[in-house]
Amino acid sequence: MTNQLSPSNRNPDILFAGLLMQAKTVRPRFDVDRVRRAYDFSKAAHGYQLRRSGDPYITHCVEAALILTELLETSIDETIIIAALLHDVVEDTEVTLDDVEQRFGPTVARLVDALTKISGLPTGGRLHEQANTFRKMLLSMAKDIRVVLIKLADRLHNMRTLEHLKPERVMSIARETLDIYAPLAHRLGIAAFKWELEDLAFKHLNPDLYRELAGKVEMRRAERERYLDEVKGTVHRRLVQMGIKADVQGRPKHFYSIAKKMQDQGRPFEEIYDLLGMRVVTTSVDDCYKAIGAVHNLYTPIHDRFTDYIATPKTNMYQSLHTTVLGPRNVKIEVQIRTREMHRVAELGVAAHYSYKEGGEADPAAASALSAIMQQTAQWSEDATSPGEFLEYLKIGLYQDEVYVFTPRGDLVRLPKGSSPIDFAYQIHTQVGERTVGARVNSRIVPLRSTLASGDHVEIITSQHAQPSADWLGFVQTSRARSKIRRWMKSQRHEQSTALGREMFQKELKRLRLKLPAPEQLDDIAQALGYEGAENLFAALGNGDAGLKQVVAKAFPEEVEREERPRKPFSLEGLRDLARLPARGVSIQGLQNLMISFAKCCMPVPGDRITGVITRGRGVTVHRLNCPNAFEGRIEPERRIRVDWDVDRDQSFLVKLLVTGIERRGLLADVAKAVSATNTNIRTADMGSIAERVRGTFFVEVRNLRHLERVIKAVKDVKGVTDVERHQVFGDARIEDSEGEPEEEAG
Ligand code: MN
Repeated sequence: MTNQLSPSNRNPDILFAGLLMQAKTVRPRFDVDRVRRAYDFSKAAHGYQLRRSGDPYITHCVEAALILTELLETSIDETIIIAALLHDVVEDTEVTLDDVEQRFGPTVARLVDALTKISGLPTGGRLHEQANTFRKMLLSMAKDIRVVLIKLADRLHNMRTLEHLKPERVMSIARETLDIYAPLAHRLGIAAFKWELEDLAFKHLNPDLYRELAGKVEMRRAERERYLDEVKGTVHRRLVQMGIKADVQGRPKHFYSIAKKMQDQGRPFEEIYDLLGMRVVTTSVDDCYKAIGAVHNLYTPIHDRFTDYIATPKTNMYQSLHTTVLGPRNVKIEVQIRTREMHRVAELGVAAHYSYKEGGEADPAAASALSAIMQQTAQWSEDATSPGEFLEYLKIGLYQDEVYVFTPRGDLVRLPKGSSPIDFAYQIHTQVGERTVGARVNSRIVPLRSTLASGDHVEIITSQHAQPSADWLGFVQTSRARSKIRRWMKSQRHEQSTALGREMFQKELKRLRLKLPAPEQLDDIAQALGYEGAENLFAALGNGDAGLKQVVAKAFPEEVEREERPRKPFSLEGLRDLARLPARGVSIQGLQNLMISFAKCCMPVPGDRITGVITRGRGVTVHRLNCPNAFEGRIEPERRIRVDWDVDRDQSFLVKLLVTGIERRGLLADVAKAVSATNTNIRTADMGSIAERVRGTFFVEVRNLRHLERVIKAVKDVKGVTDVERHQVFGDARIEDSEGEPEEEAG
């Protein structure tokens, strides 16, 4: 074990001399004296503090500065190096921020302050603490990208020396690195940091798999290199013949990315690893296109695998031509072709555009990449209903690529990849979204569920009378569109229920030959029954939360007393009076305008065999034929009624699924992802665990039994899920009401 302290084998002075030498080589005007003062100051402040590796603490600060020097190359500057050297002094020593400011100026002090605040926040703690940490980090990062560069360098060095920590710390830091810091590096386009952070985290989180992959990679290395050398030679000779100056390189595969692809694509190691990577780096854009011609001429390109990221760069500024070809003996080779400058951006991302004059502003390209992340963070923060959800958005969102599209006026709109015209419409304005009836992309009418691509010009066609559709929830990508559509649906249901409740109430009064109370009276009645205002009372009546009899009795105590003789309770004649919205989903012996609800105990969906049960005052409830609550013995024959499915094309039905599984991080998110992948909307989801067993309930909206079966299968396939079943209340549940579930009407 290396946990115990051992005498240092790293001499910080020698490390630091190396750093100065390196900086001076790439930038002859590098201010060595100022940086040396910072080093001496930090070294004195950290004094005899040791790292758990046994090295003097100051080595960590120098290593972080070295990582930045290597990353930034010629754009290195004194300020970021000084801040890196001092990044832990305020947190870990007696030094105050004022000391730092007096000696090294306000910019350094500001950077150190931001870094102190970030690291003062707990690592791997509770969800809301973590969420807070990242929110703060992203906020301070937006003001100055140097904060995040130093933080990433700090984390990278800590990851490189992680084995010295206690096992439980190791796991939580590695987890956090994989969840947040590697995605962040990815989003900023800093490939070098991303790969190393991922592989180091993977090594600690899953040492067995890591060792296995490393062994397999090593075994095949020689064979692979021989093959690549052959192809590289052929391509290079051809380019030389054409007079193109280019470097042809093999591309190393990273362990974590191999493991992830094996898992995501469900394919064995060999298939992933045998896909070879090659890179051609040219000196001009022109040569890139010539080179791809040459490659396609030498080897057969695989259809549909050509992408031009030069014409449409990725959000993190990445540019390249991508193609996949069949090399000799039909081995697939992925080829990337780019210029030297593009290569620099591909490796360094935002850092490639990094150039700070003292007190100056960030490069515009870097600034816009940062502000994109900030806008999203703010959006996620707003949409999330809990810290856990915020973290999920962050984790998924940081990896999610974006597309840029244009409004008819030429304004740029940034959307997550896979977005539809509906996402675009809601991004413009909620009212535009709600009135969308169609869309033109590049002047052609397209379906609303089509996918937008970077560079598209999008025009939304609206109509005053248009309304959002629940179907949209099946394909929108942005949290904004999703939450706005849901909100609209909810308010719509409220309006419908209100209208229905009012009508039920009026009909009942008419039947009893009573006069409608004045509005103020109605409000009083509502209050007496515990509802705020008449409208809410009607809504409750309409959706069945309040009973008609009870409300009328409250409004006219004496009259109802007199009327108390029972009318024929379960006759169809009585039901006819309960005119309400057109029944949707089922037809009942040709009768129109019956009040229909779907039983909450068994939640039938089209495809299920069903039966109707006539209820007191609430129309017909539709049960599954095998539902214990609609069982022959329990229901008087005259209350049974035949119902048949009669579904509108866009109608969906709520189903409750019980999911059991073995606890692991991200299980809930993975189940949700699997459900969404079947184009299914999740209404609510809830998961809890006892010991290592997880039980969750999901309310999903499906169109029919086949759709439901697809969802169940998808959830069963999620790693860690042991069982999925459709909820059914047995035993004593009362007929109309099974408690504790959301009140939902189909459609
Ligand atoms: Mn540190």
